[in-house]
Amino acid sequence: MATTKKITPKPKIAQQKHIMEKTIKKSSAKTSQSPKKIEPTKKSNTSLSVGPLGVKPYELKKNESYMTDGQLRHFEEILNLWKQQLMQEVDRTIYDLQDVTNYSDPVDRASQEEEFNVRLRERDRERKLLKKIDEALASIQNGDYGYCDECGAEIGIRRLEARPTATQCIECKTIAEIREKQIGG
Ligand SMILES: [Zn+2]
Repeated sequence: MATTKKITPKPKIAQQKHIMEKTIKKSSAKTSQSPKKIEPTKKSNTSLSVGPLGVKPYELKKNESYMTDGQLRHFEEILNLWKQQLMQEVDRTIYDLQDVTNYSDPVDRASQEEEFNVRLRERDRERKLLKKIDEALASIQNGDYGYCDECGAEIGIRRLEARPTATQCIECKTIAEIREKQIGG
């Protein structure tokens, strides 16, 4: 059986390959130049710093003043959800801490101790955060919520959306952090 398959002359393949390489190079250069795709923050049950993101950000009405009842209710909802979530995590941590085995192997014992310390630190962090949430909820009740503890300025909806427990405006917070670094360093 005679083969009918046409054999493409070699130079042409080389040419095509060359063109292909060129286009690949071009396209890869293009992708590396394009800005990194930032994934939107997803709702997470484990992350403590973000809070329950199931709550949609507050949509400001036209000419809406600062810390209206609607806004306060919005942040109250976020804080309450966050609190619930944290309490569940605390329960889990306590459960983990109770689950202690008496290992005879010192290596096992050491790793358990380390795990134990991690859990304790987590527990401590959760406890502090819960305190902050409770304080924020209390300040909603007494009308202090959303205003800077230091200078009394509006903390701002956007900042509160990201940090519902914020008690300082971004300026005062920045100054406090610099001071902390100076003392700490
Ligand atoms: Zn301030």
